Parts: sequence; structure tokens; C-alpha cells
Amino acid sequence: MIIEKNKVVSFHYRMHEIGGEKLEDSHDGEPMVYLHGYNSLIPGLEQALEGKTAGTSFEVVLPPEKAYGVRHEIGLKRIPIKHLLTKGKLMPGMIVGINTVDGPSEAVVVKVGKYNVDIDANHPLAGKTLAFDLEVTDVRDASAEEMSHGHVHGPGGHHH
Ligand code: ZN
Repeated sequence: MIIEKNKVVSFHYRMHEIGGEKLEDSHDGEPMVYLHGYNSLIPGLEQALEGKTAGTSFEVVLPPEKAYGVRHEIGLKRIPIKHLLTKGKLMPGMIVGINTVDGPSEAVVVKVGKYNVDIDANHPLAGKTLAFDLEVTDVRDASAEEMSHGHVHGPGGHHH
């Protein structure tokens, strides 16, 4: 069965930054499960998986535009520490929770002051070229209910 719209795909992956360290490895747990064709993954990953079958392993390198986007200078902000969702001691490089007009999000701490903190609200992986080692472990048809919800139900997906 090949990966196309309305297939439920399970896959393992390792992700590292080109010229950098390993960032994520799904082999520590269950494979990632998603419904293909609903923009649930970063764009380049969904494109790379299109047409593949279960048992296929391959590698793909994604520039920022096809991964987590380019960095925006507007993402740099100074906000009161008490407005952070993350409590406790702050260190540069830490990922913290923030409230935005679009709801809760994440930002990276750049500099910590007494009352304010400089944060970078760009996605922590924005601006990075990422390499993925992918292994498709399962492909199945989505149920009518999954298609109408636009996401996977059951193991690795939504429970409701
Ligand atoms: Zn649902």
C-alpha cells in the first residue's frame, strides 16, 4: 500500500541538524503516526513520504522553508518574567512556554534580566537545515471517521 491522501502512516525517524547534533530520535519510543494529506507534518516531510511503502527506509534533507520555516527578527521580544508560562529558574537557551494571540507557544530564552526576559519566539528549529532518516513501518487506510476529523484515532493518535 503506498502513501497517499487518506492513508494512516506510521514511521520511525532520526533527525539531526546538518553539521550539528542529533535532535530527535523516535526509536526511543513508539513510531510517529499521522494522517497523510492533512498538513499534520512539516511540509517537506509529508512530500518526502508521498508514494513510499511500508518497509522503506530513506533519508531526506530539508531546508528551513520545507521544515520549520525561516527565522524572523520580529520573533525577538522582551517580556516580563511573570508573563511566562514556565516558572522557576531561567537560563539562556532554555525553551519556555509563552502566551501568544494564537494561544500557548514556545520560545527560547536569549537573555535573563531581573524583571524581564529576552526571548526568541521563532520555532527552536526555525532557520535550520534538517536531515531525517526515515523508516516507514506501517501504512493503512484511514477510517471514514478519521478522514472527517482530519487526524488519526487509536494508538499514536487521538482518543476521544
Ligand atoms: Zn477525532
